Amino acid sequence: MLFDFTLSTPAQGLVDITAEVQEAIKESGVNEGYCIVFCPHTTAAITINENADPDVKTDFIAGMDRVFPDLEIFRHSEGNSDAHLKSSAVGASETVIISGGKLLLGTWQDLYFCEFDGPRKRKFYVKVIGG
Ligand code: ZN
Repeated sequence: MLFDFTLSTPAQGLVDITAEVQEAIKESGVNEGYCIVFCPHTTAAITINENADPDVKTDFIAGMDRVFPDLEIFRHSEGNSDAHLKSSAVGASETVIISGGKLLLGTWQDLYFCEFDGPRKRKFYVKVIGG
């Protein structure tokens, strides 16, 4: 089953989408299988990271800004090449195992929608596959 979600994002940041993905799995009725979480945008991404210390999310963005600064050599007229680089580096999707009707994530892991060029209204998809 395919589910789609919309969210409003900050200028830059990680938005926890674990509860929405878990809800999709519940609605699908799939107990054992996997799911794909996909971001259909070129300046955003999906990742899995720590859910305990909120400073990790802040440091994640600060680190990405250091690794992918907005450089004068960029030619893209929209002026957001740094966000395009971050999007591809992090990746458009994550695949997570479903066990016992729940996401098989580590204790400290959650799923995040990563915004690199907001604020915007964004979408993401969850494909739930049994088996
Ligand atoms: Zn662009």
